[in-house]
Amino acid sequence: MLNIQKVESYPAATDYMDDIIKMIQTLMDKGYAYVGKDASVYFKIESFASYGRLSHLCLDDLKAGASSRVAVDEYEKDSVSDFVLWKSYDKERDGKIFWESPFGKGRPGWHIECSAMANSILGDSIDIHVGGVDNIFPHHENEIAQSEACTGTHFVKLWMHAEHLIVNGRKMSKSLGNFFTLRDLIKLGYTGDEVRYLLLTTHYRTQLNFTMEGLTAARQSLIRLQDLIERLNGIESEVDASIDDLAAKTRYQFKKALGDDLNISQAMAIVFELVRELNTLCDGGNLGKDCAKKALDLLGEFDQILGFMPFHKQEKIPEEIKGYLEKREEARKAKDWENADHFRDLIKENGYTIEDSKSGPKLKLR
Ligand SMILES: [Zn+2]
Repeated sequence: MLNIQKVESYPAATDYMDDIIKMIQTLMDKGYAYVGKDASVYFKIESFASYGRLSHLCLDDLKAGASSRVAVDEYEKDSVSDFVLWKSYDKERDGKIFWESPFGKGRPGWHIECSAMANSILGDSIDIHVGGVDNIFPHHENEIAQSEACTGTHFVKLWMHAEHLIVNGRKMSKSLGNFFTLRDLIKLGYTGDEVRYLLLTTHYRTQLNFTMEGLTAARQSLIRLQDLIERLNGIESEVDASIDDLAAKTRYQFKKALGDDLNISQAMAIVFELVRELNTLCDGGNLGKDCAKKALDLLGEFDQILGFMPFHKQEKIPEEIKGYLEKREEARKAKDWENADHFRDLIKENGYTIEDSKSGPKLKLR
């Protein structure tokens, strides 16, 4: 419903136990890891000089905490410490869940799972690594330490950390009653495109404040796009004018905006500036069939990235509803107002409205 492409692989840590164990072994062999008093294996952050590089931790903080160890996967930034690679088996805690390893029975820490899977699927070096802002420390900091200590090469060229979504200015939580699933929103009458629009058009490093007003605004923006698309599709006339310059300029600006750390707000402003200019050209009768086709192709090109352009909305209107519109028009022509109103109401009941346009009445999903 959200038009999200599947990624290439969805690995499970349990399928990579050999790689995980091999990586821990390498870290031990190279002197980056040691066995603690509790028989778990720890990464010695002191041994990795650039530890703290990603989360901008200060070296003094590191020294202060370097003597401590944590066996849990998530901890606060002020408790910088040696972190666990292999948790030794604890009957109470682990029950039947354990793997055999050269360091004894146990299970891997969360951080090493990611390093091992990334390494075996993508190789020593990754172009782009994404995640939520909450993953920067300790998770990604530890991934860097493990991977680079193991391979001796640069782990990630570009990190992109997404901010969290909030709802009506507050954290989304079940207890606050502001928890929405996609299914909830669809039930409320919103479409996947509208949700996608809202989620996509806030810059990834900006907190997205999710509100119903925001969804309504997304709907308005999509209607504006839909109106233009229908308008362009309806152009039959031949006009001797070119939009090549406008298209080239817009294409360049759109790519430039997204090339600047995915500046989606700027890119969307450019799309709507194009919408405005195309509407002005249509208003003045200055856009012919060929140019309309070029404009539609350009919007389609942008939609390869945006994925929410309402290109096919018109086709989705059920035949039954289209039939009501025809009958209403016939009744109107015959000045049979009672029947005309009856069919108008039927259309309304089915969630559509009738809008008058230059080329006659059109149906629209409300
Ligand atoms: Zn990870």
